[in-house]
Amino acid sequence: MIVAIDGPSGAGKGTVARALARELGYRYVDTGAMYRAIALQALRDGIDLANESAVEHVAQEAVINFEGGRTVVNGHDVTEAMRTPEGDVAAASVARLPAVRRVLVARQRAFGKGGRLVMEGRDIGTVVFPDAGAKIYLDASPDERARRRAADRAHTGSGRTDLADVASALEARDASDRTREVSPLTLAADAELIDTTGVPIGDVVKRALSLVRSRLGDSA
Ligand code: C5P
Repeated sequence: MIVAIDGPSGAGKGTVARALARELGYRYVDTGAMYRAIALQALRDGIDLANESAVEHVAQEAVINFEGGRTVVNGHDVTEAMRTPEGDVAAASVARLPAVRRVLVARQRAFGKGGRLVMEGRDIGTVVFPDAGAKIYLDASPDERARRRAADRAHTGSGRTDLADVASALEARDASDRTREVSPLTLAADAELIDTTGVPIGDVVKRALSLVRSRLGDSA
């Protein structure tokens, strides 16, 4: 079984995907971290993020390691740096490049060999694993997603954050993710939509888990 979790930023994907993986004893892959890691490596190499073939080369060559909750690319720990507002913009920018997506989607499909995987992103149920056994699309109102992002220390560090700034950055990134030509963020026809606005995260996890368990039952 492969569980695909998609949706916009701040919808709760990371929390839900990690909880599902823990409950089911599955592996967990955060594909956003892959786009972020490639973007940071390209910046480190002084590459123009619009230079598709140069960023593609970075994606092909990068050694990305996710052990112990850290993200290490080519030996550099980018766990904190990749979640800054600059990391957000850089990741969304490289994610628009078709050649980069081809490389990362191939890597993501390789993780799926053997099943027992929860993968989160924007195009997991639509492109990476269109035959995933369970597809969940998490969403929440723009206001609520911005509030969650502003309260998320991984994204804001210890600095002060202005909610209006977070909301407008989130809106810009969403627009980029939804309107890009390759693999835009969309709801797969066979995905279960869960609106998490005002819903405690524990309840969202319960609902997602029961959906996955019913799919597991169906396929048993
Ligand atoms: O999920 P996260 O916010 O960390 O993703 C960072 C960026 O990577 C997104 O804004 C999106 O542009 C891109 N992304 C993507 N496809 C995925 C996962 C992330 O395009 N499967």
